[in-house]
Amino acid sequence: ADYAPSPARYEGMTYNRCGRSGLKLPAVSLGFWHNFGDHTPLETMKRLVFTAFDHGITHFDLANNYGPEPGAAERNAGYLLHRYFARHRDELIVSTKAGYEMWPGPYGDLGSRKYLLASLDQSLERLGLDYVDIFYHHRMDPETPLEETMGALAQAVSSGKALYVGLSNYDGPTLERAAAILRDMRVPFVINQNRYNIFDRTVERNGLKETARRLGLGLITFSPLDQGLLTDRYLDGVPADSRIAADGRFLQRSALTEARLAQIRRLNDLAAGRGQTLAEMALAWLLRDGAVTSVLVGASRPAQILDDLKALENTAFTDEEIRLIDEISRD
Ligand code: NDP
Repeated sequence: ADYAPSPARYEGMTYNRCGRSGLKLPAVSLGFWHNFGDHTPLETMKRLVFTAFDHGITHFDLANNYGPEPGAAERNAGYLLHRYFARHRDELIVSTKAGYEMWPGPYGDLGSRKYLLASLDQSLERLGLDYVDIFYHHRMDPETPLEETMGALAQAVSSGKALYVGLSNYDGPTLERAAAILRDMRVPFVINQNRYNIFDRTVERNGLKETARRLGLGLITFSPLDQGLLTDRYLDGVPADSRIAADGRFLQRSALTEARLAQIRRLNDLAAGRGQTLAEMALAWLLRDGAVTSVLVGASRPAQILDDLKALENTAFTDEEIRLIDEISRD
């Protein structure tokens, strides 16, 4: 049977302008890093993307290496896009990236022109698309001249294979240099993608957040729930179907120390006092002051997406709540 998206899908979502660009992104976006590889049943993937799109989540985030195996998430997304979203391509922002190891040898990693442009072609093939909406350089490569990497992004756009470009995991000073190069080449560079959550304030310390705001660029934040730690998932142990127990590649049991658990419990109480789940509060905290364009969540089940969306119902915090969150999360 075909998929008929909810006619009400645009009613509840907030769309934020991505910096000073013309592009708007949903305040909550869906990432394909986990749960879209070859171990996940197709039925689960379908329910996740249908739930997302039915609620106005118009942005799906991918990368060349998402799996397992690397490439599998793009292939699975390609199938879903072709099978169910063919009539809705122009309602979707699909992104992908290159920058981490993807194939063996010297040309399948980091930031060379050779790697980025070959990888983008491979991504389009797997996705079954003519273009992606956003193509990112996935991480800084200190050994490749920034001009070369930015030149590859420029070509991705001029060749029609990407509409916009983005940078991921950059710091403030490198972002500033990259942005100047891209501006000179008139490349539509609109967005940064970085890890940011109550427990990880790196972007506040390395200049990324401040520089992005000053330059009029968007900021989409990944692992906004710290991979599930900033939720009620681990309050009473490690459930068998949780990321820690079921996957463990990137989130290990060792992350859940007694001290961490104590912080999670205090934050959970604070959230309850606001009438929110911890996941809702963690996302609302990121969206509270307009510095973050979109929170890029992952989900293993549709109910999590619905909970995450409820964050939008209250993104206001008192000074005292902000102070308490800072105090609790300080390690
Ligand atoms: P999150 O911090 O949102 O973690 C997602 C996980 O949290 C889910 O899989 C689920 O875990 C749990 N969860 C989500 N919502 C709830 C809820 N309401 N209640 C309870 N548990 C919940 O993000 P991710 O770490 O998954 O990253 C999101 C996206 O960011 C990725 O898919 C990817 O697109 C992008 N990303 C980009 C990177 C980059 O370098 N640019 C690096 C990493 C991610 P469980 O499985 O236990 O149910």
